[in-house]
Amino acid sequence: MSFYEVVSGYKDFDFNGFLSSVNSERVRVILSNDKISDMDFLALLSPAAQGHLEHMAEKARRLSLNHFGKAVLLYAPIYISNYCINRCAYCGFNHDNSISRKRLTMEEIEQEAIELSKTGIRHVLLLTGESKKHSPADYIIEASRVLRRHFDSVTIEVSPLTLEEYVHAAKSGIDGVTVYQEAYDEEVYDEVHLSGPKKDYRFRLDTPERACRANMRSVNVGALLGLSDWRREAFMTGMHANYLQDKYPSTEISVSFPRIRPHAGVFEKVSGVSDIQLVQTILAMRLFMPHVSQNISTRETATFRDNLIPLGINKFSAGSCTEVGGYSGAQATEAQFEISDGRSVGDVCEAILARGYQPLFKNWMSI
Ligand code: SF4
Repeated sequence: MSFYEVVSGYKDFDFNGFLSSVNSERVRVILSNDKISDMDFLALLSPAAQGHLEHMAEKARRLSLNHFGKAVLLYAPIYISNYCINRCAYCGFNHDNSISRKRLTMEEIEQEAIELSKTGIRHVLLLTGESKKHSPADYIIEASRVLRRHFDSVTIEVSPLTLEEYVHAAKSGIDGVTVYQEAYDEEVYDEVHLSGPKKDYRFRLDTPERACRANMRSVNVGALLGLSDWRREAFMTGMHANYLQDKYPSTEISVSFPRIRPHAGVFEKVSGVSDIQLVQTILAMRLFMPHVSQNISTRETATFRDNLIPLGINKFSAGSCTEVGGYSGAQATEAQFEISDGRSVGDVCEAILARGYQPLFKNWMSI
């Protein structure tokens, strides 16, 4: 069985009918229970649950403290190539966008690593555009070996790899994989992925499972909120995380909540997700999966991110640069998207401490 069968099982489900049938009393009953079922989770994403955010926040805060303590793990992205052969309607690296393209050499990657490591960051997320020609698995693995000289954890967000490539990557020291489905709704997925290998919905959907099967230590999933109805997308993200955690209990599963940001090129059909709705998503996810890490990036503003700390977010990117070569400066190109929280790592640490939480630079290391 693959997660595709779970997604298919919801294909004809009447989401709108279910969501509008949820009333305040049902939400109250769900919040008085310790265990949250799949349908309870969906009910917590309903319009009726929006009237119970304070109660949800109290529970989420308690569960987060139980599972993660008062700590927020910091990491930073490092972009090493922005060549991409896909045409995703929502992305600045889209093949058709006339931006300057760059792929870093190993020496340049080392320079980036040296600059970034000066900030104190110990966990990095290596990113590339999707091009097997410019950033094949061998290039990514070689780059990760360079990064491992400077950081304790190297995770990747690159083209979906085969099982064999993930096995090789894991043995070479890459310890985690991030892959966003972008849109779980198969029709919307087809609509926004205009051409390129990413158009293969099923291959992408099965990617987190291949990473789990390859014994990656951590796997991070998410939907790009704004492409399709946020309630359904948040629900399917939770289903995906739950499916993976049940089937691969030794892998640390985490979820992210990226919202569409301005970028080179234009995507007109954004179906907006308000701050309150994003908060509701984060709270519902924490109640549904208390032990799953929740991650929020610099796409969101400083104040908003800081306010999310006690509500269930326990991973933060900090001091991020989304340009290839952006940390060492000399090679900088256009960013993949505009960031909202441009604070330095030091400033982010101060903000976390000010809320009585501890910024963590690493919570594990391989020996
Ligand atoms: S989202 Fe990824 S695959 Fe799509 S255009 Fe951007 S970099 Fe390429």
